Amino acid sequence: MSEPEEEIGRVLDRAGKYLRRQKEVYGETLYKNSAPTRNVSKEADPAPTRVSEVDLFGQATAPPSASDAASRAQLPNELWAGANNLDVLNGMICTCLKCGLGKTRKNFVFGVGNAKADIVLIGEAPGADEDEQGEPFVGRAGQLLNKILEAVKFKREEVYICNILKCRPPDNRKPAAEEIELCEPYLWKQLEIINPKMILCLGLTAGQALLKTTSSLTNLRGKFHNYRGVPLMVTYHPAALLRNPNWKRPCWEDVQVFRKRYDEISAVR
Ligand code: URA
Repeated sequence: MSEPEEEIGRVLDRAGKYLRRQKEVYGETLYKNSAPTRNVSKEADPAPTRVSEVDLFGQATAPPSASDAASRAQLPNELWAGANNLDVLNGMICTCLKCGLGKTRKNFVFGVGNAKADIVLIGEAPGADEDEQGEPFVGRAGQLLNKILEAVKFKREEVYICNILKCRPPDNRKPAAEEIELCEPYLWKQLEIINPKMILCLGLTAGQALLKTTSSLTNLRGKFHNYRGVPLMVTYHPAALLRNPNWKRPCWEDVQVFRKRYDEISAVR
């Protein structure tokens, strides 16, 4: 064999090894690397693809971690963007008045749980109970969430739970696009610090915000998307399950798939 052919053989061999490793982590899904964008624009690919990357020298590159991605996430040039732990970050942003919700909140609801969690759960926004107590998912929806977590053998205290918005929208209305745009960078920073292995979005608002899509829950749920290199699943919001118990079954199926992938990822690492 000539030298260029041997070199091509070596590159293909390395790429093959890389793809096999990727398959162990992500399963059959192929993800495509894409730079994060801030505007809700076109639909997220409902069947995401990851294409392996081999650099100029034929070296397979690793998928981006949440922290690589967050460093590309255009955090505002503000002091808090340099925080290196969750308590410091909370301390720096808890007096936020960027949007009108700052004036009406009782408490800034930063997030709760394990600062080194493998799993981050992301809801929409605090409700009345959360606003009162300063902790996400403590009302009826939170109690159901605890049961869902228990059913797939996650403890509430081992995961991290937060919301897209840190302050309660009056009358529990849906977050406005501008509120999401102003508040979401705080979540990006939380994710950068925690650097989770997997993300579960509870409800369409969280899924659409993170994936920058207008796709429906039917399209988004039940499969893995690539959030800056981190497998992300969207499922029903627990409050929606309280309104429509028929959705409990598909939600149960989602979280079982999520748990299975988590076990696979944990076994590989
Ligand atoms: N619903 C949410 O989305 N988040 C909470 O924290 C509580 C209810």
